[in-house]
Amino acid sequence: MSNKRRRVVCDYCHGRARCVDSKRIYPYRPDLIGKWFWLCEKCDAYVGCHPGSTTPLGRLANAELRAAKQSVHYALDPLWKSGEMKRSAAYAMLAEALQLAPQNCHIGMFDVQTCEAAVVALRAYKKTT
Ligand SMILES: [Zn+2]
Repeated sequence: MSNKRRRVVCDYCHGRARCVDSKRIYPYRPDLIGKWFWLCEKCDAYVGCHPGSTTPLGRLANAELRAAKQSVHYALDPLWKSGEMKRSAAYAMLAEALQLAPQNCHIGMFDVQTCEAAVVALRAYKKTT
């Protein structure tokens, strides 16, 4: 359900985030038209939403956290995109390395520290295989 009045708080300034459309965040990404984002202009922090909804995918991320999450994806995604392992197995391996319950192992929920630990764990995993 679409609910632009939901209360989404920015983790950085604890102010309320605003629900905006994709053009506000990615003006040159026609593939994202129709998707919603939650934005804190003060912190330049935002997060996308689950498809077809205004439910945020995780916490708002500023530039530093966005870069940290990207580096986790660069380390993790090739494992399952290459067919080396299933996506669920890749996430289960990461959850175990980080000592997280699998249901809590969502990169969208990670903070910068967890992202850094994830990259270290993934590099160690690649060395052993
Ligand atoms: Zn903020």
